[in-house]
This record gives sequence, C-alpha cells and structure tokens, in this order.
Amino acid sequence: MTAARHNWTQKEILAIYNKPLMELLYKASTIHRLHHDPNTVQVSTLLSIKTGGCPEDCGYCPQAARYHTNIEGNDLMSVTQVKAQALRAKASGSSRVCMGAAWRNVKDGEEFDRVLEMVRTINKLDMEVCCTLGMLTENQAKRLAEAGLYAYNHNLDSSEDYYKQVISTRGFEDRLKTINNVRKTNVTVCSGGIIGMGETEEDRAGMLVALSTLNPQPESVPINALVAVEGTPLEDQKPVSIWDMVRMVATTRIVMPETQVRLSAGRTQMTQEGQAMCFFAGANSIFAGDKLLTTPNPDVNEDMELFKLLGLNPQKPFIKKMQPQTVEAKDSAYESLGEKPKWSRPEHTIARNQAAKVKGKS
Ligand code: SF4
Repeated sequence: MTAARHNWTQKEILAIYNKPLMELLYKASTIHRLHHDPNTVQVSTLLSIKTGGCPEDCGYCPQAARYHTNIEGNDLMSVTQVKAQALRAKASGSSRVCMGAAWRNVKDGEEFDRVLEMVRTINKLDMEVCCTLGMLTENQAKRLAEAGLYAYNHNLDSSEDYYKQVISTRGFEDRLKTINNVRKTNVTVCSGGIIGMGETEEDRAGMLVALSTLNPQPESVPINALVAVEGTPLEDQKPVSIWDMVRMVATTRIVMPETQVRLSAGRTQMTQEGQAMCFFAGANSIFAGDKLLTTPNPDVNEDMELFKLLGLNPQKPFIKKMQPQTVEAKDSAYESLGEKPKWSRPEHTIARNQAAKVKGKS
C-alpha cells in the first residue's frame, strides 16, 4: 500500500506552493513524520569521477565544454582512487556514494566496464552506490543493476516547457526514457531539478507534476538551488530566496510523501536556520563533502555540527523506509489536515465511514 498519489495537477500543486507559509510548513511536516523519522537525514557524498568536457549545453552547468568556466577537467578516475574516496566518505558518516561523470550518455567499452567495477567495489564497503552518467540504454541499466547499483540519478531539471529554455541538446522525453530504462531494473530512481534558473512558479509546479505522476514516484528527489557560475548562460541569475527553497521542499514533501527529498546544490548560500527550516519542511537527505561535482558545498564538519545542534542522525545504508505507520494512522493524520485520504485502501475507508455513520445514529 502506498500513500503516493499519481494524479496531481499543476493547479493543485501551485495552490499548495502558495499556501500561507505556516500552514504549508505544518502540513508538510505532519506528512513528513508519518512516512519518515524526522530526526534522521540520509547523507550522500557526491564524487565527480570524470569532470568537464561534456558535449551537452545545460545552461547551468560549468562542465559543458562550450562554456568558458574555470573548471579543471579530469579523465575517468581509477577504481583505486574511487575506493579511497568512498572510504573517506564512509568514515565521515555518508551512507551513499554518488558518482557523477560529465557524459552525454554511457558508451559501452572500457570506461563503462571501469564504472561497473567501481560500483562493485563500493558495494563491498556496505555503502549504497548511485551513479549519474547521462542517458542510459535498458541494457546498460541492467548491467549497472547486476553490478549492485542502488540508485541512478537523472534529473528532469525543470518543467517540460521551461526545460527547452535551458537545454537544447537533448529533450525532456529523452530524460523520461532513461528513467524508464532504470525502472525496468531494481535500481531506485533519483530525479529532481533546479530552481532559480528564471523559471516561474508554474514551471516549478510543472516539474513536480512530471515527477509525482511517475508511477512509482522517484525514491529520491533532489531540490537544487542554482549556483550561478561565471561563464555559463545562467551566470547572472540572482540567488534563490530561502523562502522559495522552503516552499519547494515542503511542496515536494506533500506531493511525494514517501520520497527522500534531497537538499542539494545551493546549501552554501543557506544559513543554519534556513537549512533547519528545510529539514522541518520535509527534506531528509543532503549531499556532504566540500564540492558538489564542481560547485561549493558546506564542509563535512559544518554539517556534523549542524546535525548535533539540531539533534539529527545520519541514516544507515539500505534503509528504504523509516518508521512505517499504519494505514489508519496515516488516514487520520491526513484527515486532521482537512483532506480526504483518497489513496487509502477503499475497503478500509468505506468501513470506517460506515462505522462513523452508525455511531452518529446511535
Ligand atoms: S549537467 Fe551533465 S549533461 Fe549537462 S552539461 Fe553538465 S555534465 Fe553535461
């Protein structure tokens, strides 16, 4: 039984996004604690295993070869280098290593074989392994699954409409196809987007429609705030306000209750109070390490200090669902928010409604 609804409309999501803030936070936080332990946050380390020189034209990305940024490119790392970094990440509290390569798509051959070996190696360290390698065929997804991949990241980035303003070298439907190829395996899906690229609130809601109507919904949804990098087409974008970030996190939590909502790029621009508000609104995952592929990220020690301050604990690996609640508990919590839990077991709801009617008559 899943609490997820797959028929959210843009209008409904926009209405949630624009609720009075206190009401939005209360609702998101109530839903969050029904499906997750509110004091546990999953910590991933993002590792750029092949940096720069990408042929794509994603307008936010300093790794695109066509933009003039200060990124130092690197060929694909060795398995030994990756293992050493994974051990460091584990020692500092990460349960997942996410390996990113600046490729348009995966090509079969020595480099992909090396990535498969990296996946097998990290798996043996009892850590979750995620990859973000660009577009994937069904067969490549299967090979990654066989190697023990836990999650594959492929972001939708924005709404289908706004996507075209940011990227021209591949379409929104290509992204969905890769997600679909991953879904044919037992690898979990990580897919989210970026706010602050000049999109409207309608586009933000549109992106959440695209993600929440996937069935099943992604197990993990990263919400990034654009880090405007000099030399990219989006270099002049103003930083996103914390209020927009909190609203986006809370709305994501409400429309995708079982998903891990990942506070991703842009955390260096946020205060501790701002991050705490995001955790309260339903964010339950962060990226650790001083770099997010190529953009800055808070220092691991800063994160651990924040966790201590807020009484948060890093999540252990391979825990798909925390603190499962009964259908009854979920129904009554949703009802306390003034909502009919349309997604609960019909026979259960009917029986409860009938019982209430009988009670009303007596
Ligand atoms: S986001 Fe990924 S695909 Fe797009 S330019 Fe950067 S590395 Fe290439």
